[in-house]
Amino acid sequence: MAVKIEELLTAEINQPARYLGNELGAARKPWDAASVRWVLTYPEVYEVGASNLGHIILYNILNAGPRQLCDRAYLPAPDLAAKLRSTKTPLFAVESRRSLTEFDILGFSLSYELGATNILEMLDLAGIPITWQERATNAQNGADLPLIFAGGQTATSNPEPYADFFDFIAMGDGEELLPEIGLILAEGKANNLSREALLLDLAQIPGVYVPQFYDMAADGSVHPNRPQVPDRILRRVATPIPAYSIGLVPYVQTVHDRLTVEIRRGCTRGCRFCQPGMLTRPARDVEPQQVVEAIEQGMKATGHSEFSLLSLSCSD
Ligand code: SF4
Repeated sequence: MAVKIEELLTAEINQPARYLGNELGAARKPWDAASVRWVLTYPEVYEVGASNLGHIILYNILNAGPRQLCDRAYLPAPDLAAKLRSTKTPLFAVESRRSLTEFDILGFSLSYELGATNILEMLDLAGIPITWQERATNAQNGADLPLIFAGGQTATSNPEPYADFFDFIAMGDGEELLPEIGLILAEGKANNLSREALLLDLAQIPGVYVPQFYDMAADGSVHPNRPQVPDRILRRVATPIPAYSIGLVPYVQTVHDRLTVEIRRGCTRGCRFCQPGMLTRPARDVEPQQVVEAIEQGMKATGHSEFSLLSLSCSD
């Protein structure tokens, strides 16, 4: 039987403040007023996940939308995971404390290969079937389950090893892509579209790859299995906006315990072996004045006394 989250966070749970949410800077948007409810997850323990700049930027951008709500979830440590399983309590989002299945859409950052198994662990803990096929063919044809997607560099570089597990994959930068997905989702919900019809609408957005609408040929190439979806999926490229880098102030020490502001996306060096150097082309510099303003505002808003500048090769 599921129990209240507060009852799970007992004294023997290591670092219970990882699971409290509602840090300084959290959005705290009203549940009922939102037309689309997102959970963004970085599939690692809180100390790592909450430090990820992409996670922070997209959380801030989605919550800046008037009718969109974005909550967060992280991989629970083994002690809480065992307790969730033994009490049959589904994995929850940290701010609303609601089960992940109550949301419309659940997005995972897949930034490195080893994160993939953490995603499966989180889906399992949430009581969500792990493949798109199982979700689409459950008793309610998936109407009772959130759409599950991945974004990030590993998902963008080659989505195929992970294609069975996601309803769609967001390719490239998410700053403009995720709000576009939110608009289509709001429209689809208002029109009561089926899961498949909604995914077909989402597949029209440049940068959205819906694996179930594509088949793999014997040579490994991937081709549409219906005429309504594009032959090639474009990787999205967005301009970095440092104002959205101002993150939350965690209750526990995180791996990046300071303000982090991106100064360039991409790298001018072009080393042929480098995955992020290839995937984040073209290199885009942020206006220095925007960086200065984000640092000034961010330090005031968070109280951090340190900041770091982020890019693939800052000293350039
Ligand atoms: S990030 Fe480093 S390895 Fe990659 S292209 Fe730039 S300089 Fe080369």
